[in-house]
Amino acid sequence: MKRTSGKKRLSWKEAYKINSKAFRLLWNRYPQMFLSRILCVIWDALTPYAGIYMSALIIEELSSGRNPEILTRLVLITLISAAVISLVSAFLIKWRDEKCAGMYFKVNQIFTKKLLDMDFASIDDVKTHEKLSTIKQNQNGGGWGLYRVIGNYESIISSVFTLIGGCSLTVTLFIRQVPESAGALTSLNNPLFIFAAVLAMFVIAYVSPALSNKAGSYYADRAGSHNLGNRLFGFYGWLGYRKDLATDVRIYRQDSFCAKFLNTKTGVFGSNGIFAKYARGPIGAYGAAAASVSVIFTGLVYVFVCLKAWAGAFGVGLITQYAASITKLSGGVSSLIGTAGDMKNNAAFLKLVFEFLEIPNTMRKGCLRVGGRACGDGAGGYEIEFKDVSFKYPGNDEYSLKNVNMKFRVGEKLAVVGQNGSGKTTFIKLLCRLYDPTEGAILLNGTDIREYDYLEYVKLFSVVFQDFKLFAFTLGQNVGARVAYDKAAAENCLRKAGFGERLDKMEDGTETYLYKDFSKKGVDVSGGEAQKIALARTLYKAAPFIVLDEPTAALDPIAEAEIYEDFNDIAGNRTAVYINHRLSSCRFCDDIAVFHKGRLVQRGSHEKLSADANGKYYELWNAQAQYYNS
Ligand code: ADP
Repeated sequence: MKRTSGKKRLSWKEAYKINSKAFRLLWNRYPQMFLSRILCVIWDALTPYAGIYMSALIIEELSSGRNPEILTRLVLITLISAAVISLVSAFLIKWRDEKCAGMYFKVNQIFTKKLLDMDFASIDDVKTHEKLSTIKQNQNGGGWGLYRVIGNYESIISSVFTLIGGCSLTVTLFIRQVPESAGALTSLNNPLFIFAAVLAMFVIAYVSPALSNKAGSYYADRAGSHNLGNRLFGFYGWLGYRKDLATDVRIYRQDSFCAKFLNTKTGVFGSNGIFAKYARGPIGAYGAAAASVSVIFTGLVYVFVCLKAWAGAFGVGLITQYAASITKLSGGVSSLIGTAGDMKNNAAFLKLVFEFLEIPNTMRKGCLRVGGRACGDGAGGYEIEFKDVSFKYPGNDEYSLKNVNMKFRVGEKLAVVGQNGSGKTTFIKLLCRLYDPTEGAILLNGTDIREYDYLEYVKLFSVVFQDFKLFAFTLGQNVGARVAYDKAAAENCLRKAGFGERLDKMEDGTETYLYKDFSKKGVDVSGGEAQKIALARTLYKAAPFIVLDEPTAALDPIAEAEIYEDFNDIAGNRTAVYINHRLSSCRFCDDIAVFHKGRLVQRGSHEKLSADANGKYYELWNAQAQYYNS
């Protein structure tokens, strides 16, 4: 059957490098977590040998001298050591559990932090989301990726210590000689047996995990299909939980459509699907073979140890010691080799993780201070100018903005109008430095904005984007965009934005939770109300530039008219940019910029632009006016 992941297998060297890199990443962030886990596994790997050793001494004494004094001493030591081991284990486990609480989420935080620190251009790039989605699918579907690194390192360390403990209790098996009186069995003293035993242990310990890894590789190599199955389940399986889809699901009965999709027998996880077939065939066969190989090795060990004891090389007590420690030893080798194979399989998934985590931030971030002007309520003398700015979205051959020259007049209200796709939102994204121009420059008080400290520059803007989002915090926290907000200022902004009447009906005022995620008393708000809250948030920030991208699209006509009437008051003496494709909504602005196919084609007052019968504004105005007139 065809491999579907398309992943190139990595060499052992590459796999080692990428696993070490992942280990360093996690270790640097969570050293205590690793330390606690490592100490736990070392303790767990070594302590069973204390029991094995003491049991062997007791059995030996029972089968030979039977001295009550010695026996009592041995039993006491066994009990005390068992108690100490349990006590230390309990302490280590508690420490580990404390350090590892929420570990899965902590590891996921690495991705969240990367997303938050990323250039907006990368966030906006669909390839970034495809990568992240595949990483998540690998993680949720097969447990592959960053989180697996923790378990793998744990297993490697545990195996190494199991080997150390096992070797130290086994070494005398080959030193203790069968006496001459044993006749033919003295051949067991031949040093070749040491060589044969070590060789057999390595061969079998290699074969067993190799078979298991072969079974596992069916999943790893077909991660593409596995992920697709998980994505389908993720979407269709949770359809009923999606509030945003509830209306469409009911009207178009999409549940039955999805049920068909999920219940298919030949689907990825169906009873005749690819993974079911593999489980019945090669995956099952390799798994069974892997288990049998270990059993064969244990059998051979028992035969050798018993023969040597029978021939008189040692007593019955040591039989248990050798048999138990060799079995553990072979388990350690198996686990070591198995984990190495698993790390190699996981390396291809880690490669993708690092491709995502190492997406470079290419945006130039200067260090010039924005200046001593207060970002308080006012334009503050900040003057911005677009100088011959052209822009193409990454991966797009077409220009979305072309040779735009424009100066903002400090403290004035500028409307930006144009048909859909004319470049209005792109213009705002460049202004707010979500993207940098492909050609040309944007200047703040005569200096390229790339020279300024990025965070300081961004502080100059208060924006309501078309697809703004509110959070499931309190109303006041949404407006203040912080936990501790100024209650009076938040209320004032909400009233200015036309939310006053609704606010008065809220029992808990600005302390009312939005949505029900964190509070049973949380309220849902309509699209128009949400837009008013977003507008209030813009006002609260009190930045010198206020940018509103279609801010009234979800408002009813009365609310919209109120916002226009009060707009001068709302915006105060800040520089305001107002985007709308409904031209009638822009008449109140002093200055109107008309965009067409990415170019700034006209600029002026409504009166001036509507008088130019050959202009784009005239054409758009008349096209829209038709609807109202008819
Ligand atoms: P408007 O706001 O006037 O409707 P936009 O600024 O959103 O127009 O879009 C201008 C052009 O840029 C359109 O052709 C649009 O398809 C393209 N565009 C917008 N966003 C992206 C993007 N993220 N990637 C590629 N092209 C885009």
